[in-house]
Amino acid sequence: MSAMILDGKAVALQIQAEIAAEVTQFRQATGVVPCLVAVLVGDNPASEVYVRNKQKTCEKVGMTSRLERLPSSARPEELLQLIGRLNADVSVHGILVQLPLPTGWDTNQVLDAVSPAKDVDAFGPENVGLICQGRPRFLPCTPHGVLQLLARYNIEVSGKHAVVVGRSDIVGKPLAMLLMQRTGPVGDKVANATVTVCHSQTKNLAEVTQQADILIVAIGRANAIKKEHVKAGAVVIDVGINRIDTGIVGDVDFESVSSVASAITPVPGGVGPLTIAMLLKNTLTAAMQQNGVSR
Ligand code: NDP
Repeated sequence: MSAMILDGKAVALQIQAEIAAEVTQFRQATGVVPCLVAVLVGDNPASEVYVRNKQKTCEKVGMTSRLERLPSSARPEELLQLIGRLNADVSVHGILVQLPLPTGWDTNQVLDAVSPAKDVDAFGPENVGLICQGRPRFLPCTPHGVLQLLARYNIEVSGKHAVVVGRSDIVGKPLAMLLMQRTGPVGDKVANATVTVCHSQTKNLAEVTQQADILIVAIGRANAIKKEHVKAGAVVIDVGINRIDTGIVGDVDFESVSSVASAITPVPGGVGPLTIAMLLKNTLTAAMQQNGVSR
């Protein structure tokens, strides 16, 4: 079997075009330009690339974006003060604090400080709570990107066994939450899964992952998932982004797994571009909500 490629880049471009049309309409109706501010502390090279890509894509869809930088020598209080100013600035609709923060900083304290109305990453406790209750203000970007990919390729999830490998607050945990909900944010077909979550303490990982109809991997271990982990015909979504000597690879060994899976995402060009597209969608949603406009 040779797996169908789930082209995240193409789907992201399609979603970006939809967002651009909505932004044009919103700007014409209100005169307001949605604005995302990215906050970067220190000089982590990977974070620099992520922030630049997010800003570039923002501009492509007719939004503005601004970068606020603090040196790694800054004190956490300076970041909290900056966030306070951005919370109060009515021309700023979305705030994104690029993670990771410097070692030793309290990430939760920082994320808690972002106004829930501007928390377009949906990392703060109020937005996480709303997601868990099935009434999200914003959807978490990477999990939402995965749902969009499944929906737009007509891959039904309802009643299937979805195995999520990784339980981070950013990817694994919210994704498992969204997949198990009765009414999914992108339709009932991409909801109602029977979900199993695996992590570093899971015994006999391959035994569990082999049961997956839909296998989603977000562990940050280059090429860790091989064909021995995958049931024939499974759909495999690789969230991982790992920099190795030969370039960027996912958590899934693409060559090995595409010989048994029915569909698979490439890395790069899979989930990554969708994450950015969903961030823009949240920024537009935030601008709409802050200006009393409903979708
Ligand atoms: P974290 O490091 O926060 O979490 C990794 C998770 O994987 C943890 O739950 C950990 O278990 C689990 N894990 C680690 N090793 C194993 C293993 N050998 N077997 C089973 N589980 C394991 O990572 P993130 O969730 O933030 O990111 C995961 C990957 O996704 C990274 O490569 C990251 O770069 C990428 N990523 C990609 C995005 C995109 O847009 N495509 C967006 C965000 C992340 P435990 O909890 O027990 O430690």
